[in-house]
Amino acid sequence: MDKVKILDKEFKLFISEKRIQEVVEEMAHRMNKELKGQKVFFIGILNGCFMFVADLVRHLDLDCTITFLKLASYQGTSSTGKVKRLIGLNEDIKGQTVVVLEDIVDTGITLDFIQKQLRGYEPAEIKLATLLYKPEACRQDVSLDYVGIEIPDDFVVGYGLDYNGCGRNLRQIYTIIED
Ligand code: 5GP
Repeated sequence: MDKVKILDKEFKLFISEKRIQEVVEEMAHRMNKELKGQKVFFIGILNGCFMFVADLVRHLDLDCTITFLKLASYQGTSSTGKVKRLIGLNEDIKGQTVVVLEDIVDTGITLDFIQKQLRGYEPAEIKLATLLYKPEACRQDVSLDYVGIEIPDDFVVGYGLDYNGCGRNLRQIYTIIED
């Protein structure tokens, strides 16, 4: 499918399933190399990360724990700039290597907030990984350790990412067609 209509908006194909899978596998291989021998605590940020995490962890060859946190800073197609919700962490991450897994970093506000919250749990170190990164949109000084693909500052859907709750099931990533 080269074009999809989701609710009132049209989107065109942007990143193929093959490209996504190649990038995710490369990210996992880098993590396998760089985090070898460590016990690693992966934290996926819901909802958008679920496909990325599911595909990534299948390529990981590490002693690891995988959990999820829920945060939302978005409504519709533009960032509100506010983090609205956090479902807390129940596991003890003190002294551990934590890798935060995000689907997309836009303004960077969410990741900055998560990083600050996680520091309170005293992990040994926090690494940040995102499948997609919009460098032009990023307003926070977040230092990303693993970036899959840098993309322009346009709204995208698919592969876990939604438009008002829809489109998460798409296997490819689509970008908005502005009217
Ligand atoms: P940030 O706090 O970096 O501005 O935004 C992070 C969150 O906003 C992401 O985890 C994601 O839920 C949402 N987001 C940012 N850009 C996009 C986008 O282009 N498409 C979709 N569907 N969500 C986005």
